Amino acid sequence: MGSETELFDLIILGAGPGGYVAAIRAAQLGLKVACVEKDPTLGGTCLNVGCIPSKALLDSSEHFHYAKTKLSKHGILVGEVSLDLGLMMRRKDAVVRQLTTGIAGLFKKNKITTLTGFGSFTGNRKNGIEIQVSSAQGKTLAYAKKVIIATGSIPAPLKGVEFDGKDIVSSTEALTFSEVPKHLVVIGGGVIGLELGSVWQRLGSKVTVVEYLDKLCPTIDNALSAELLKSLTKQGLEFRLKTQCMSATKKGTQVLLKVKHRDSGEEMELAADKVLVSTGRIPYTENLGLEKIGVKLNERKRVTVDEHYHTNVDVVFAIGDVIEGPMLAHKAEEEGIACVERIAGTAGHVNYAAIPWVIYTHPEVAGVGMTEEEAKQKGIDIRVGQFPMAANGRAKAIDEVEGFVKMIADAKTDRLLGVHIISAHAGDLVQEAVTVMEFGGSSEDLARTCHSHPTLSEAVKEAALAVEKRTIHY
Ligand code: FAD
Repeated sequence: MGSETELFDLIILGAGPGGYVAAIRAAQLGLKVACVEKDPTLGGTCLNVGCIPSKALLDSSEHFHYAKTKLSKHGILVGEVSLDLGLMMRRKDAVVRQLTTGIAGLFKKNKITTLTGFGSFTGNRKNGIEIQVSSAQGKTLAYAKKVIIATGSIPAPLKGVEFDGKDIVSSTEALTFSEVPKHLVVIGGGVIGLELGSVWQRLGSKVTVVEYLDKLCPTIDNALSAELLKSLTKQGLEFRLKTQCMSATKKGTQVLLKVKHRDSGEEMELAADKVLVSTGRIPYTENLGLEKIGVKLNERKRVTVDEHYHTNVDVVFAIGDVIEGPMLAHKAEEEGIACVERIAGTAGHVNYAAIPWVIYTHPEVAGVGMTEEEAKQKGIDIRVGQFPMAANGRAKAIDEVEGFVKMIADAKTDRLLGVHIISAHAGDLVQEAVTVMEFGGSSEDLARTCHSHPTLSEAVKEAALAVEKRTIHY
């Protein structure tokens, strides 16, 4: 704990990927930093109940599914494959523990003070900004010249289908089920719902996804969304698109969900053992005392900032899920670094046109930049190149022929505007496109870059060649 009279250069509220990365960068730049975290471990949503545990389970469940369905194709016969869910969960918990304690180690190394407790503005600004830190041990006060709000987000509640923490749950609890649910209904066909739906489907659940819109993951390119729907349906997930979930009632060990088709108005009931509500996340600013210091929220309850992450209060900044933009760990990290570099008087910057995203289903879906629909809406004249994974040698060798790479370039300048991939390892493949876009490169740049053979990345090169209709292998 810091002493009550100590004046920090910077206090950061929240130790998620936005806050902890900002704290480390600030310390590197010579600032005296404290980070306030209400939870017992550092790392925020991402490390504790988000990116990391979900990917650990996605990987484990994929191994299970692979062993059951694909290993024999390679001539490897392992007999009956069975599941030890407890062991799988303990492995996931160990990964989380290693990473969160790793952040504590990095804080120590960088001489960052951790203040454990719930941080809030008192409104007092006499000795710098006064922050109250409340915990079971009591209340302390800390002071800083500047404060960054990095308090992240929490699962959005759904009216009529209230969380009970046991049978009607958010992603947090869906990462810790002690048994494989017989029937899991996922409300919301977005990234989190599809990832966790995939985990439990692979482990043996019947999974039904209820989605109000007519496509999965509404912001992604239409062609990828359609391909993902096709692929997940083939794997056994059931989808009810254009369907609204109206209410939930508990009956014995089951949850009865009333759902209604958006167009026909037809109503029906779904009986589930567990319901995962994954209809989005909302910024977390509750009890922060923002009104005491005068920090404004926008109409979507996100903290309002300018392009330098400055709120309307001169010495208060905000980054990550709590401000506008995609709720992604790497976006929060980049903002944390840019914000702190600005505070320290250097030149931090985030290029929002080159922020990639990944959906870790199988196949993975990843993208960066504009979709074809977005480019057309903006009236940009584009050329589109597409290459199927089925024509890629490595994809054939590893039996991962699903999907394609789609590339969007400006028709006049050839500047790369967007790259969208659905395939095994799409999340890794998209990264070279991010680099090209960061450098303002063209599809020709990618097409003329030598790619190792045989790799899945050759499909990215071929999609670039496809922009000029000169693919070699298709
Ligand atoms: P958070 O990580 O939410 O951290 C905020 C921190 O602030 C928390 O530790 C919280 O306890 C603390 N806090 C809040 N209020 C206070 C207070 N008043 N005082 C003290 N502490 C406070 N993103 C990806 O990029 N890739 C993925 O694969 C991915 N997978 C995800 C899977 C799931 C299941 C979920 C839920 C999210 C996933 N995300 C993923 C999103 C990602 O986790 C968030 O975008 C990211 O964590 C946001 O970082 P942040 O620092 O803004 O906030």
